[in-house]
Amino acid sequence: MLSDKQIEEIQKITGVKNAFLNDESLEECSTDETPDLSCRPDIVVKVENIKQIKELLKYSNSEKIPIVPRGAGTGTTGGCLAVCGGIILLLEGLNKIVDIDEKNLMAVVQPGVITGNLQSEVEAKGLFYPVDPASLDSCSIGGNVAENSGGPRAVKYGVTKDYVCGLKAVLPDGSDFIYGGKIVKNVMGYDLPGIMIGSEGTLAVFTEITLKLLPYPAAVTDLLIPFKTIKDAAHTVSSILLNKIVPAAIEFMDKNCIKAVESLLERKLPYSDAEAHLLIQLDGMDQKETEKLYEKVGKICLNNGAEDVFVADNRPMREKLWEARRKIREAIKPLSPVKRSSDVVVPRFKIPELLDGIYALQEKHEVRIFNFGHAGDGNVHVNILKENMDDSVWQNKLPAILDDLYKLVIDMGGAISGEHGIGIIQKKYLKRAVGKKELEVMRAIKKLFDPSNILNPGKIFE
Ligand SMILES: Cc1cc2nc3c(=O)[nH]c(=O)nc-3n(C[C@H](O)[C@H](O)[C@H](O)COP(=O)(O)OP(=O)(O)OC[C@H]3O[C@@H](n4cnc5c(N)ncnc54)[C@H](O)[C@@H]3O)c2cc1C
Repeated sequence: MLSDKQIEEIQKITGVKNAFLNDESLEECSTDETPDLSCRPDIVVKVENIKQIKELLKYSNSEKIPIVPRGAGTGTTGGCLAVCGGIILLLEGLNKIVDIDEKNLMAVVQPGVITGNLQSEVEAKGLFYPVDPASLDSCSIGGNVAENSGGPRAVKYGVTKDYVCGLKAVLPDGSDFIYGGKIVKNVMGYDLPGIMIGSEGTLAVFTEITLKLLPYPAAVTDLLIPFKTIKDAAHTVSSILLNKIVPAAIEFMDKNCIKAVESLLERKLPYSDAEAHLLIQLDGMDQKETEKLYEKVGKICLNNGAEDVFVADNRPMREKLWEARRKIREAIKPLSPVKRSSDVVVPRFKIPELLDGIYALQEKHEVRIFNFGHAGDGNVHVNILKENMDDSVWQNKLPAILDDLYKLVIDMGGAISGEHGIGIIQKKYLKRAVGKKELEVMRAIKKLFDPSNILNPGKIFE
């Protein structure tokens, strides 16, 4: 709980108009996209410049007030929620694309830039920022850096960390942090941005990010492939990779997800009674090469039991397919507002084994589990639905399912999160997934950056 004096000091920094104490603002920032999770802050502040961020952090540090950076609030593990109360630091106002440098193939952006907006702006100049979380129309680059977000195109193009060349940030004591810039190589001592990327807002507030760009691929084709069995779809993923083909994306969607999306979009999808679909994107600089590649991939799919191969080679058709894929999360919500979503990842070749294991859990625990995700990365979004289950049954059942799921994944050499992070909801499982020593090093890093534990406390560590 903040004192009147503290509120007054905060208002002096941001101006009264940008410091919100009303119910509506506090409620709005009490949730993100994590189902069934809410934490109310004491105050929400919207910053207009970096000076205000520095002063706020300095003041929070001197008063030991928790302060939580918030981008667009699309996180799914509660990362931007004020679990210890205090200040929500809204970064949405810092949303300028500072520079698109065609000579150096770099973009310099403020943290509040919406990822999809950056993609459209660079595309207009024939350039490509490939990191494409399914939330790209609403999530921010600052959030992407803090979560080290990925997306369907991670199979070929990697994740956010593969594009961050320079980072400006404010540290918890209010001091500046500047490292790197428009350079693609940099081995000056420790890889400090490497530690900060994926730190979930616990080490620093990012204020300016320099991102590497690529030339926009001249030819892009998407294939939608229905399968009679989940096993066939899973084995096809392995078979494509075994054939030394790396598509831009290989997404998996089970029948439950497809049906849910059909109902949300009120339109039929091809072969929607198939047990599973793969959505595969192929791209390149040459149309003929890409055509050859999709013929090859199509054959592999048909040899592995695909019912058909739909080719979408024009933009409107492709966008319709991707709209369906990106809407899955939203489509599941009405079926079960309370659910647990996990984004486990295993070595890519173990995707068939992982999916087998997950569907076995569905039988064992008598619960519906909807699965979709970035199969080409070995990364599956596992959605465990509460539906009409009694609260007490759910409270008992969910930990048992998660125990089984995470054991399965860890035994396969995987990780409990491929892109959504630990946040609040996965804290208790982190110590099972990483070693004691590694956890000690992580805690020591947090202490070094933030000895007073004011920046996004209560995240990652129990
Ligand atoms: C429909 C849907 C689809 C999604 N698909 C994907 C996907 O394909 N891949 C994927 O990786 N994720 C996905 N996500 C998860 C989410 O969109 C990402 O984690 C995204 O990067 C969060 O960005 P944000 O701006 O919303 O961050 P927020 O939710 O606001 O914050 C997330 C974390 O970042 C920290 N943070 C935010 N801004 C800063 C900053 N400037 N400095 C320091 N810390 C900061 C916060 O404190 C918090 O810990 C999806 C979410 C939804 C709802």
